[in-house]
Amino acid sequence: MATKFTYRSGQRPLDGFTLKRGVGQGAFGEVYFAVSDGGKEVALKLLLRGHTDAELRGVTHCINLKHPNLVHLFDLRTDARGDRWVVMEYVFGESLAHVINKHPTGLPTQVIREWFAALCRGVSYLHNQGVVHRDLKPGNIFIEHGHLKIGDYGLSRRISGSEAGDLSRGVGTPYYMAPEIKNGNYTASIDIYACGIILYEMVSGLRPFNGETPYEVLIKHITETPDLTKLPAPYREVIRRALEKDPAKRYATAVELARAVEEMFTGGRREAALPTASLADAAVSMTPQLPRGRPVPPPTPSKTEPLEIPSGAAVPVASPARAAAPQERAGVPGPLTHTARDRLTELAGGLALAPLITAACTAPWAVFQGPVPWTLLGRVFLLSTVLAWAVMVIGRLPKKNEHNPWGRRAIQLVVGLCIGALAFWLDGWALPTGTASASTGDIVLPFTGQRISQSTLTIGMKYLIYFGVTVAVFRWWTATDHNRRERVRFTPIIAATFWSAIFLFLWPWEAAPAMTGVSVLVIATVTAQVASPWAGPPPSLRSRAYYSRG
Ligand code: ATP
Ligand code: MG
Repeated sequence: MATKFTYRSGQRPLDGFTLKRGVGQGAFGEVYFAVSDGGKEVALKLLLRGHTDAELRGVTHCINLKHPNLVHLFDLRTDARGDRWVVMEYVFGESLAHVINKHPTGLPTQVIREWFAALCRGVSYLHNQGVVHRDLKPGNIFIEHGHLKIGDYGLSRRISGSEAGDLSRGVGTPYYMAPEIKNGNYTASIDIYACGIILYEMVSGLRPFNGETPYEVLIKHITETPDLTKLPAPYREVIRRALEKDPAKRYATAVELARAVEEMFTGGRREAALPTASLADAAVSMTPQLPRGRPVPPPTPSKTEPLEIPSGAAVPVASPARAAAPQERAGVPGPLTHTARDRLTELAGGLALAPLITAACTAPWAVFQGPVPWTLLGRVFLLSTVLAWAVMVIGRLPKKNEHNPWGRRAIQLVVGLCIGALAFWLDGWALPTGTASASTGDIVLPFTGQRISQSTLTIGMKYLIYFGVTVAVFRWWTATDHNRRERVRFTPIIAATFWSAIFLFLWPWEAAPAMTGVSVLVIATVTAQVASPWAGPPPSLRSRAYYSRG
């Protein structure tokens, strides 16, 4: 496929630069790694002849653009033969296409989150400068020291309707082409569409539309709806909208798209404003340099020491809180997805930790309450541990519908009823058997023949109702959310105190001190928060921490 390069290593077709090696060839020309007479390492792109001045104006327009997520353009020069050269920053790293190839089932979730936000920031900057990229694709996106940079902007030739027709003859890579390109009538929205396809690919390792010929792929962009079932559920709606056939129905801006993705990760909580938040800047210190994967070793080994990200493995992050955490990966449904094994390991660790925390909370309670019988302490310890365990486990259930918590509440109600039954049993109200203490008011249970007195039944019911109601009303899923902003917050503790106190009128006062109920709820809330697996501070906070350390 690759033809010979026009120039060899050591040649100086462009005054002031010595070519070191050819890097690759694309639709617009060939790229060389070169060094200027002053020692500056650059990429030189020799543009194919036949570019019109109007097309080159695109490069000229971009020559002074500056953004951390754009490959820096230094100059547009003409050599002695009249050929045009784009002098640009040489990116030591590898293309996003390479990274995706190495992760055939999708990139780690945290990486998607950071790189996609960075991509949208770069695209948004271009759009604000009046530039539509037109050729956004993983091959034109580079990752250097974990930092994402978009290349080849300002270079793409106008893709007019007639040129789109060339696709039938196999020109171009139409995997990222918006359907309206066929009319030659398009706006910045084609970049939003391309970002949608890129996100699809980052998440699943697959492209939504494939075909034997470029023409077939383009026809699919125009006529077929993308198969979203291959994506983890939280991504589906965002990608569906980014890939709308009608540009008017897509996200209006790259910022809007980035925000929708970020909200997917934060569950709707507002993070720092995306255009200014420095997710990718934080990633500079977080991700190892990825190898370029080129046949010829790059000239400065010190800059390119490859630290391979093995397929499916972790990309280390700077935050100490996260450093040891297993990496999330795309591919498993859930807002921030882990592999099932990672999730189980984390959860098991949390469950093991829970009794220690409840014990630590129960002890001071004994001190403040004065002399408390050990049996009561034991009951509080056991009930709060079991409750914390239960809410931690149900907190990991997939969220079917964020906006309808009633399914979750129903499960919580069942948990509460079980806790009530356990409290009743621990209280020593094991059901009397036989007929020894039979009295006329007793209720005889069917099948077992066990008898329960009216008063015992009332106490049992009160336990069930009290714990059923208080556990059901509380929003445990926010306290145990993997992506909660802080590991432990006071609001849930206050809420637990509030609800457990409000419903004390249901408490079986005759059986146990009311503080038992309140303590169980409060201690379980503290424990569930401390012990529940936590993703660490959101990236905006992490990057702030990074800068304040620096
Ligand atoms: P297209 O023409 O559609 O952009 P392409 O990206 O494959 O296709 P080129 O842009 O010509 O083709 O790039 C050719 C090769 O040079 C690619 O392997 C690319 O990764 C590499 N390359 C391009 N620009 C740079 C750069 N600034 N720094 C380092 N490598 C680069
Ligand atoms: Mg390119």
